[in-house]
Amino acid sequence: MKEIQAYLKEYQKEMNWEISNENYNESKLSILNNYMLLTTEVSEIAEEFRAIFNRTAHLVKEENMSEEEAFALAKEGYKQNIGKEIADCIAYLVKFANYLELDLEESFYEKMNEVKVRVNKDI
Ligand SMILES: [Mg+2]
Repeated sequence: MKEIQAYLKEYQKEMNWEISNENYNESKLSILNNYMLLTTEVSEIAEEFRAIFNRTAHLVKEENMSEEEAFALAKEGYKQNIGKEIADCIAYLVKFANYLELDLEESFYEKMNEVKVRVNKDI
């Protein structure tokens, strides 16, 4: 995680894609813009899964495959695209962490431990 944060810090500087630190309004606009870009990338993951389900249905209907066989083939066909969309999401999430000078690895494990011991209030 530290390696990815360091890599993206340099990458975003090189591409001039850092969150603005000019003043409050510039920072606010830049954060909101990057947040919208992140949500777009999240929806692109959904699009890829939707394509997998559509491809599965097509293979079942037109190629007479079983659902399991068609689903396995469809997943294989879209796996690489989903990897790219997940990478896009990670890039924006890490950008926020870098902007706040957060150690994301520390935040990640801290949160996962918190979830592990959390009592479910619904039951
Ligand atoms: Mg994308």
